[in-house]
This record gives sequence, C-alpha cells and structure tokens, in this order.
Amino acid sequence: MNSIIKDISLAPSGHDKINWVKNFMPVMASIEKEFSVSKPFAGQRLSITIHLEAKTAYMAEVFKNAGAEVVVTGSNPLSTQDDVAAALVERGVTVFAKHACTDEEYNEYLNKAIDFEPTLVIDDGGDIISLIHTKRRDAIPKILGASEETTTGVNRLRGLESRGELVFPVVAANDAYCKYLFDNRYGTGQSTWEGIMRATNLVVAGKNVVIAGYGWCGKGAAMRAKGLGANVIVTEVDPIKAIEAVFDGFRVMPMKDAAKVGDIFLTVTGNKDVITAEHYPLMKSGAILANAGHFDVEVNIPQLENLSVSRKTVRANVEEFLQKDGRKIYLLAQGRLVNLASGDGHPAEIMDLSFAVQFFSIAYILHNHAKLEKKVHLIPADVSKEIAEIKLAAIGVAIDELTDEQKEYLNS
Ligand code: NAD
Ligand code: SAH
Repeated sequence: MNSIIKDISLAPSGHDKINWVKNFMPVMASIEKEFSVSKPFAGQRLSITIHLEAKTAYMAEVFKNAGAEVVVTGSNPLSTQDDVAAALVERGVTVFAKHACTDEEYNEYLNKAIDFEPTLVIDDGGDIISLIHTKRRDAIPKILGASEETTTGVNRLRGLESRGELVFPVVAANDAYCKYLFDNRYGTGQSTWEGIMRATNLVVAGKNVVIAGYGWCGKGAAMRAKGLGANVIVTEVDPIKAIEAVFDGFRVMPMKDAAKVGDIFLTVTGNKDVITAEHYPLMKSGAILANAGHFDVEVNIPQLENLSVSRKTVRANVEEFLQKDGRKIYLLAQGRLVNLASGDGHPAEIMDLSFAVQFFSIAYILHNHAKLEKKVHLIPADVSKEIAEIKLAAIGVAIDELTDEQKEYLNS
C-alpha cells in the first residue's frame, strides 16, 4: 500500500528525532536486539494507531525488525509530526498520517489501516478498535487480537466487553504496572507542563494551578506543578482521591470555587464537561485552560465560544476568547491533549517502558490468542517486573535480593 504523508522530503529531521530518542530507550533496544534475530512476528500484519512522533516511530521499527509488516496511523490529528512520518516511510513502514488532518482524513487513514487486513492491532484511545466493531466488521475474521494504550480506551473496551460485544481478545497495556505507574503519572506530569510552557512561555511559579482529576495523570501533573512553584488546587468527584490530594498537601474544592481563583486550569479526568458555562463567568481575566485527558470535551468549548464576543489565535496553540465584560480567557491546543499538540508528548525514557509493555502485550496475544476469551486481559505482572529489571540495569541502578531465609520468613 502507498503511504499518505505530508512530504517525503521532510525525512532528514525525522531521522534525527528518531535517532535521538533511540539513545534513551534501552529496554526497546534490548527487545530489538533479541527479537530481530528470532523474528516472532514473521507473517503478521500489525496496524498501529498511536501519536505519530519519534518514540512511536521507533516502536514501529522494532516490530518491523521483529518480522511484522507494519502500518502506522496517528491517534490525534495534532500530534502527528510530518518529518517523523516521512522518516518512518523511508525506514520501510507504511504510514497514513498528516499533521492537522481533517476529521474526514483522520477517518480515511483509520480505514486504510483496516484495509491493510491486520492480524494484530495496537490502539490508543479505542478509535480503530471501535471502527472495526462498527463499520468495518469485514476485518474481524483475520484479527487475532489487539492491545490498548490508554485509560479511556480501556474504559471503552470494558464497555464493549460488558455488553458481550467484544469480538477479539484485547490486552489493556495501560493497566500494566510499567505503563500507568510511570507513563500516566511521571510522563503526563512532565510533558503537560512542557506543553503548557511551550505554548504560553509564561511562569508557572506563584500561579494558582487547578488540576481537575486526581487519578494517575492528575497526581503527576499536580506533583510537577508543585515542583515548579505553583499553588496547586485539586478538583475531584471521588472522595478517596480527594483525601489523597489533601494528604499530598493540596487544597481541594469544587470547580465552581476553583474557577474564581485559578490562573491555569488543567483537566485530566477522561470525563466531559468538567469546565463549562457555569465556570467561565467566574474566571479571572487571563485564565489559561488546558486539557491532557483523552478527548477535547473536558473543557466545553462550544459553551465558551457562545459566551465570547470573539475567538482568535494569538500564539501558536493559544486561542483568546474575549468575554463581553472585556475579560480574556485563553484555551491551549484547541482543548486537545496539550502535551502532544504543543510538545512531543512523554519523554523517551518513559515511552521506553510503555512501548516495551506494548511489545509484550502484542506478543502475548500472538502466543495465546487461541485460548484467550474475547475479553479485556492483563499481561502477567511478571512481564512488568522483567521490563523494570532491564530498565534498572540500563540506568545502572542495583537493588537487593531476597535471601532464602527472607523468602521463607515472608511466606511463613
Ligand atoms: P484515572 O481514572 O486514574 O483518573 C481520572 C480521575 O478523574 C479519577 O480520579 C476521577 O474520579 C476523576 N474525575 C472524573 N470526573 C471528574 C470530574 N468531573 N471532576 C473532577 N474529577 C473527575 O485516569 P488517568 O489514568 O489519570 O487518565 C485520565 C485521562 O488522561 C484519560 O482520558 C486517559 O486516557 C488520559 N491520558 C492522557 C495521557 C497524556 O499523554 N495526555 C496519558 C495517559 C492517560
Ligand atoms: N487518541 C487519544 C490519545 C490518548 S493520549 C486522543 O488524542 O484523543 C494518551 C496516551 O498517549 C497515553 O496513554 C500515552 O501512553 C500516550 N503518549 C504520551 N506521550 C506519547 C508519545 N510521546 N508518543 C506516543 N504516545 C504517547
């Protein structure tokens, strides 16, 4: 199949970006070394739908070297990097992705990745798996199974499973220790602030930062905001998470109170309508709104637009919404994932772990699909332990080992 990308001549800087991240992904490098020889994916056709930037490109290359034929599409129109897409094509992977593509094009690319007749699928957010379950059921017979990268995608899959509609086994890669503990927490923690700072070029210290949602991503974002010197306020709907935030040292309050004092708002709930028309009139002039949750529905943008006299782009990835009373409210990255739209997403060292989990999740499907029920599965916890061991060795960190006496004592 012919790739659809912006411009193949952009490849040189894409190669530079991929080569840079490879230096910091030792677990993926060791996987590549081992499986380029045994080629466990020979004869398999893998469709990957994940943010198309350098780390994803390297993962695609590792799967290709492990024997698979690989097609990649982006999982968000704003996170695709056209130079990386071009470099990936030069490295022998078929790509359907363009930065800032329209919704129609995005849909066309997903369909192309299904026309490829994959036997295995990696998804990020559930878009391609849901298309296969609805309009593209023709692809089902050839698919052995899939794996899913993120919380919202896993929630969507569990919905399909509970209605008895899931048509192949899926691994919840997100739910592996070596994924959510590091990617959602430390990855989102760092990359959202990188995205917000790149977009605004403003100081975070001393500002009231409101984090909506104190799940794995919210905890990381709050922790890093505190480190940057912000006064952090958390909003939650879950009483346990709210107590956790209190004992982590943060103020907790409802959004209608936080709206009055916040300087920067970051939604990371996986829910919709977290910031709405109820809140915009309460906000200070200059309030900045950003989202790092899955969809662009956490900040209700149509309601903000309705209340505004004008909407205009004032910097790359910053839109100003002028209110009738003269206040200005700024929205970053169109309310889409700020870390990927206005940055390169999570750092390489983090995606090293997430994508090692993806590799073993898809390998798990390949080896076990015949006996796996059409459900959402977890990969065995030992896989995360192995990944962590390789990572520790690579970064030169040694740990103690249990003695036989200690094992016996713990089991007694
Ligand atoms: P999580 O389930 O651990 O946490 C979500 C939290 O939001 C929960 O504590 C929940 O109680 C809270 N919440 C729900 N509705 C709320 C509301 N109206 N107001 C306040 N709090 C509310 O999920 P997570 O792993 O932290 O993921 C959150 C979202 O971020 C998901 O959509 C996930 O797919 C996405 N995600 C993004 C990135 C990224 O790179 N930007 C990385 C990983 C996950
Ligand atoms: N399709 C969704 C994406 C969910 S984003 C959307 O844009 O609407 C959440 C996932 O992005 C996380 O689980 C994380 O693993 C992944 N991610 C974060 N940084 C990344 C990066 N640099 N490269 C590839 N994926 C990344």
